[in-house]
Amino acid sequence: MRAEQLILGIPDYPAPGIIFRDIMPLLADGPALRATVDALIAPFLGTFDVIAGLEARGFLLASAAAYSTGVGLLPIRKAGKLPRPAASVGYELEYGVAEVEAHNDVPAGSRVLLIDDVLATGGTLEAARELLELLGYTVSGTAVLFEIDGMGGRAVVADPHLHTVFTSG
Ligand code: IMP
Repeated sequence: MRAEQLILGIPDYPAPGIIFRDIMPLLADGPALRATVDALIAPFLGTFDVIAGLEARGFLLASAAAYSTGVGLLPIRKAGKLPRPAASVGYELEYGVAEVEAHNDVPAGSRVLLIDDVLATGGTLEAARELLELLGYTVSGTAVLFEIDGMGGRAVVADPHLHTVFTSG
C-alpha cells in the first residue's frame, strides 16, 4: 500500500538510538488516510458496538473509524485529564510508570474495537485492553496502524485478535 511509504522513520528521536515512526505525512494524505482506516477495521466489521482510541494519535484513527462505521467513540486518556471519576490501569514504562483512564459512557457488555497508532513494547495497548475489561466491556479486537517488530509488543497484548496494518523490518 502506498500509505506505508508515508510513515517516516526519524532517527534518534526522542533519544539517541531510537527510530521514531512518524505517521503525520500519512494523516495528511486523503487517499492514504482513508485506505489505512479501512484496512484497520476491515477484519472486525460487524463485531463491535463502539471504538476506543488511545491518546493522542489513536484518537485520530479511532474517530475516523467510528465515523465511517457509524458507532460511538470511547477515548482512552492519559492520567489526570478526565473531569469525572474514571477507571484507571497503571503500566510500566522504560523509565517510570503511566496510567490510562476512561469513563463508562457506553453500556456494560458493549463490544469494543481498540485502536492505536504504533505498537512498540505493548504496555500501553495491554493496559488499555485491561481498562476496557475493568469497565465491563468485551474487547472484540485490537487494531494498530504500525507494529515495530522485535520489541515484543505482540506477546504482551493479550488479544488473539490483534491486527496490525504495517510492520517494520
Ligand atoms: P508501547 O507501550 O511501548 O507499545 O508504546 C506505544 C505507545 O507509544 C503508543 O500509544 C504510541 O502512540 C507511542 N509510540 C511508541 N513508539 C512510537 C513511535 O515510534 N511513533 C509514534 N508513537 C510511538
